Amino acid sequence: MRWLLRHPWLGLLALGVALGVGVAAAFWIVVGPPPGWERQMPVSPETARHFSPDYLTARARFRAKVQAAQGRLEQIPIDARGPAGEALTIDIGWFGAGRPRRVLLHSSGIHGVEGFAGSAIQLQGLDAMPRLQPDCAIVFVHFLNPYGVAWLRRANEDNVDLNRNFLGPEEAYSGAPAGYRALDPLLNPASPPARDFFYARAIGQVARHGMTTLKQAVANGQYDYAKGLFFGGKRLQQGPERYQAFLRERLTGAARVIAIDVHTGVGEYGEELLLAEEEEFKAAWRVFGARVTLADADRSAAYRIRGGYEKMLARVFPGSDLHFVAEEFGTYRPIHIVRALRDENRWHHWGGGAPNHPAKQALREAFAPEDEAWRQAVLQRGQALLREAVDALGAGT
Ligand SMILES: [Zn+2]
Repeated sequence: MRWLLRHPWLGLLALGVALGVGVAAAFWIVVGPPPGWERQMPVSPETARHFSPDYLTARARFRAKVQAAQGRLEQIPIDARGPAGEALTIDIGWFGAGRPRRVLLHSSGIHGVEGFAGSAIQLQGLDAMPRLQPDCAIVFVHFLNPYGVAWLRRANEDNVDLNRNFLGPEEAYSGAPAGYRALDPLLNPASPPARDFFYARAIGQVARHGMTTLKQAVANGQYDYAKGLFFGGKRLQQGPERYQAFLRERLTGAARVIAIDVHTGVGEYGEELLLAEEEEFKAAWRVFGARVTLADADRSAAYRIRGGYEKMLARVFPGSDLHFVAEEFGTYRPIHIVRALRDENRWHHWGGGAPNHPAKQALREAFAPEDEAWRQAVLQRGQALLREAVDALGAGT
């Protein structure tokens, strides 16, 4: 040790290197590679036929394909408008029985910008629709949150996360997870996007609370911060209300319902996760088997949520044999997802909100990576799950 006393700067250097390595390791563990790092191939014309560049293209393709496949096309309009002033609709493609006993309900875009993947699966599925038993129907619901797709947002026109919006009649639209209040200044600054050491501050939070606790506090759903991320709203939103009424009116006789709701952004890059909440887990497991994962921050990449879409389905189909699963496709690490959500949210509330801003484009990349390998994986697994559901329903002839 005597040499160290003679050369104290060497000790300082060693300490500095050790600290640097520690910080770099922490950064790598929590943050990892930047979005785009995993990208393997440029997109091909084949996947570009299914993955649409924007809301209007996707909707036009969906409508044309439903008609070409001899389905019935329906629309649920919402009052909000798109960036070009266009009317926005939830589009529905109906195949088979008008009053089905057995139905497959396949939905996309409840989280707006996540909807490009679900739309692509639906567009490809429409190229090869199976012949159905007379008491069966397949119902494609294209973009449950059309505003979010059109404006490249995850939330809807009232900043509501629609997959937190379906609270039961006895639940109040108020409250937030214990940790959310403390995180509000970090998550939801009242200013346009700017460099403000987000990654470093987020790593600090992860070090203090742990990733599991943090994920649950952020993403569970909150009802107090109307301009914040993961806001579940103050009442049932217009689109969901009209869609719920549509289901009540049109699918009352369904004795067996299999529902698939497509999402992106949770899990490993390009990998499929089939998620169910505790209450729906057993029913999902009976159809989709051991691949179904419990949506729980302790046991999976996902987390528990309040006011999820499946809770509404359970209320609409009380006596039915209902099997619901959320089909998730992983993209980037949670910290990148939160960063992209945060920047877009700041731009929406405190900037101009125009969809050509880098924050909007980054959000699209976060939820629909422009990578051929990722897109092929989504299409392949998406079609496979559709086929599984049709088989489980015994719907094909
Ligand atoms: Zn989602």
